[in-house]
Amino acid sequence: MSDSSSANNVPPDPACQPVSWIAAPPAAATVPRGEPCIGGLVPFSSVDWPGALACVVFIAGCPWRCGYCHNPHLQTRAGHYNWHAVLEFLQARRGLLDAVVFSGGEPLSEPQLAQMIRSVRALGFRVALHTAGIYPSRLQALLPRLDWIGFDVKSNAQGYDALTGRPGTSATTEACLDAVLASGVAFECRTTWSPRWLPEPELLALAGHLAHRGVSHYAVQNYRRSPDAAPDAVLSDNAQSELAALFPHFAYR
Ligand code: SF4
Repeated sequence: MSDSSSANNVPPDPACQPVSWIAAPPAAATVPRGEPCIGGLVPFSSVDWPGALACVVFIAGCPWRCGYCHNPHLQTRAGHYNWHAVLEFLQARRGLLDAVVFSGGEPLSEPQLAQMIRSVRALGFRVALHTAGIYPSRLQALLPRLDWIGFDVKSNAQGYDALTGRPGTSATTEACLDAVLASGVAFECRTTWSPRWLPEPELLALAGHLAHRGVSHYAVQNYRRSPDAAPDAVLSDNAQSELAALFPHFAYR
């Protein structure tokens, strides 16, 4: 909701209103070359970093082509938000939000991400990253600046390339997971699941592999064709019990 849509047309006092009422900066039609490519922005979210109130910045750009991608408009690098306007927006939200989550697309595809994180930290926000594990060396370099990571584990090694539409994708994800595990940064692995690409026994085997490697937080997210659609399938009670027993923290969404 924008400020101007309030009942009496008087802009509400942000300090007195639910944070979700605060409007995001307006999207620019085009962003000049050389500027960060921000394809979307959610001004307030309580689900993108569980336990934190966060603004979510969606970086445009991803080299993979997952068949189930819900954000295909974020696969190509086309920015719609001016980063300086986003920083001004965040400046005004200090004390109202805890954190900024960089999502995508693949946020590590943005060459200026390190500087963006520095700027956000300078405003006093904590920083989280959603990643599919595509760029091991870029992730390694940024780990000391991150407070939390939502890490996609899409499939087992055999199924990765078919899902992502690119060769060799399982190896890069494994390398990224190695780096995250070694870093000590808090993180959650999550798998968007449908038996169409990962039958239940293979999901359980994948989860066992992750638990064996030391992953403590794991989530299975039902695949839906659209956010409002019914899930493709529902995990059996047995599978849910087995998954819950594997991890100190397990969520089924
Ligand atoms: S990695 Fe994520 S953003 Fe990239 S194509 Fe796959 S689902 Fe879409």
